[in-house]
Amino acid sequence: MSALDRVISDLVVANRILAREDVVDAYGHVSLRNPDNPKHFFLSRSVAPELVERGDIVELGLDGEPVREERRALYLERFIHAAIFEARPDIQAVVHAHAEDILPFGIAQATPLRPVIHSGSFIGANVPVWDIADRFGDTNLLVTNMEQGRDLAKSLGQNNVALMRGHGFASAARSLIEVVRISVYLPRNARALLRAKQLGGEIKYLAQGEIDARNRGYSPYSTETWRAWEYWANKAGCSHMLTKPTGAGTAHQGPQKK
Ligand SMILES: [Zn+2]
Repeated sequence: MSALDRVISDLVVANRILAREDVVDAYGHVSLRNPDNPKHFFLSRSVAPELVERGDIVELGLDGEPVREERRALYLERFIHAAIFEARPDIQAVVHAHAEDILPFGIAQATPLRPVIHSGSFIGANVPVWDIADRFGDTNLLVTNMEQGRDLAKSLGQNNVALMRGHGFASAARSLIEVVRISVYLPRNARALLRAKQLGGEIKYLAQGEIDARNRGYSPYSTETWRAWEYWANKAGCSHMLTKPTGAGTAHQGPQKK
């Protein structure tokens, strides 16, 4: 299997995981930058993530348009991915989804969504809320061009996640596994925070030092990270598509060195 085949397989697996974990439904998408050409990225054609197959993956440029002739319909909101890849050279993978549990935090803006559980630490200390109406007035709330995508990317800044008011979220990370992990735990963190607020009293958020300590211990191919990826893929019925990078799941920290 070539490196490119592996990338495509991984992206299919990511689609299936996000669907199985209820992060996406008929809508929502995940993309991966082309490791051989940082000005291109891969994203499925317009189809529900649960149904994505290898042949559905399309290569797009940083303008959000396909790099080869493409007659199939594409996601209307592909500009979210293009604009984030354009603005953030450090980012390798992006998710956009409408997970219901995060929506209240984009609407009731007096309550910020911040990490409250250890697995939620990866969403980052600051989760900005982007409101499309601030610059574009009354729209259908979808990000359908580069101008809107760039405005969202600007709001995301150097953070891992931006909420989109009344719509969903965009998350960005250095690897596909990491962006899936952030996107799976984001709604769980939101649920825990919402329930804690229902119990009343002062909310104890994760401290910056705790978030930093979690980040220091993170490696995309550590045993712990691979364990989650393998589990999710198996649950989503696509463990046969897993491609294990050299050293994945064998070293405590990162790929094994020879
Ligand atoms: Zn959307």
